[in-house]
Amino acid sequence: MAITRFAPSPTGYLHIGGLRTALYSYLWAKKTGGEFKLRIEDTDNARNNEDAVKAILEAFEWVGMPSDCEIEYQSKRIDIYKKYIAQLLEEGKAYKCYMSRDELDALRASQEAAKQNPRYDGTWRPEEGKVLPEIPEGVEPVIRIKAPLEGKIEFEDGVKGKMSFDANQVDDFVIARANGMPIYNFVVAIDDHLMGMTDVLRGDDHLSNTPKQIVIYNALGFDVPKFYHMPMINNPAGKKLSKRDGAMDVMQYKRDGYLPEALLNFLVRLGWSNGDQEIFSMDEMLELFDPNNINKSASAYNAEKLLWLNAHYIKNVSNERLAKELEFFDCNLEGHDKKEMLLDLCKERAQTLIELKDAINNILEVPTEYDAKGTKKFVKEGTIEMLNDYLALLEANKDSLHLAPDYEAITKPFIEENGLKFPQLFQPIRIALTGGTQAPSVYDITAILGFEETKSRINSAIS
Ligand code: GLU
Repeated sequence: MAITRFAPSPTGYLHIGGLRTALYSYLWAKKTGGEFKLRIEDTDNARNNEDAVKAILEAFEWVGMPSDCEIEYQSKRIDIYKKYIAQLLEEGKAYKCYMSRDELDALRASQEAAKQNPRYDGTWRPEEGKVLPEIPEGVEPVIRIKAPLEGKIEFEDGVKGKMSFDANQVDDFVIARANGMPIYNFVVAIDDHLMGMTDVLRGDDHLSNTPKQIVIYNALGFDVPKFYHMPMINNPAGKKLSKRDGAMDVMQYKRDGYLPEALLNFLVRLGWSNGDQEIFSMDEMLELFDPNNINKSASAYNAEKLLWLNAHYIKNVSNERLAKELEFFDCNLEGHDKKEMLLDLCKERAQTLIELKDAINNILEVPTEYDAKGTKKFVKEGTIEMLNDYLALLEANKDSLHLAPDYEAITKPFIEENGLKFPQLFQPIRIALTGGTQAPSVYDITAILGFEETKSRINSAIS
């Protein structure tokens, strides 16, 4: 049973890289009968922003991955962290460091000049028999953890395999600032322990934090969770994903007319696979996903694939669901007597809900102008008489005209008897009914509009 979490820092919107991490964490927890928890990492006050928290929570609601616990906010847990700092100080596992900013800068500069990695030099680290410098006046100390000086910090990463860091790669890093505020790597380890995490899935940009967090786990005697560090999502050129490539606010996908199913299906495949299967329902994801099979190399964002998946889901979700989604785009089909026909027809060609809405409006809205090129091409001498004859035919049969095949049954003989080619009749009708030549089948449109509306639009066009 895995307890997992997603822990965004609300410094911006939730983007798809974050959503993928959340999805994988969610799937793994649910698949194993565990829990998925949300934690907002908002201790960095200056950069945090309430709107960003709202946007992140809204995105989670949209994709339907609720937290199994009340959402934790690190900013409300400062007292908990302070308690652990006090404990570590008392146990001699952390210590106060009075090095001033200037001294620290001088140390950095000398290390840089010697081409060494910057690291704290242990001036204030208490050791047996060591005499510490005199405490300077007016300097508030930071708190540093006593990191191991030798040996290795190792863990088995579920994606990357065995990870091994020399202990000297981690210095006695600061765990609380001079103002008493605990720092990031410290609070993450505490929270992951207190929130019961068994498995931590996150981007591999966090890999360098992990040895530091393990130092904290060890100092506090906590079990170290299993880590899965996932490779990034790149753009098709193999570079870091930019806004233009799709690294935008998850909610922008909603505004652009994507269904959350399509986005989640897209994301599950960006970094994980099950043979060559492309379509995964949530149930299948839950059945098949395993973080131990996450790809080792970065994956490439493919906008075409996302559109293709979206078209698939638009065709396959219920019409009721589509009608509900369309309300977001100010397209309200409630009470429309041909709602089902309209959706059945238009969803076949729509890649996004916006395209679906446009296709629907193209039929429902009375045209205000007519495509000039199409009109020139298809309206010839005799076209108006032909349309009048056709209307007369419809009128004579109007009581038996309900569905597309009813229109087809009388239209085909009409075309034959008058020696017409299909476009000769259909294109002028399309123009009259929708203003353009790109609309779907005339039988479908006429069936949706019904005889009276069809007649009225054709009459307006030819008058
Ligand atoms: N708050 C971090 C971020 O938004 C994630 C930390 C973690 O997953 O451990 O990148």
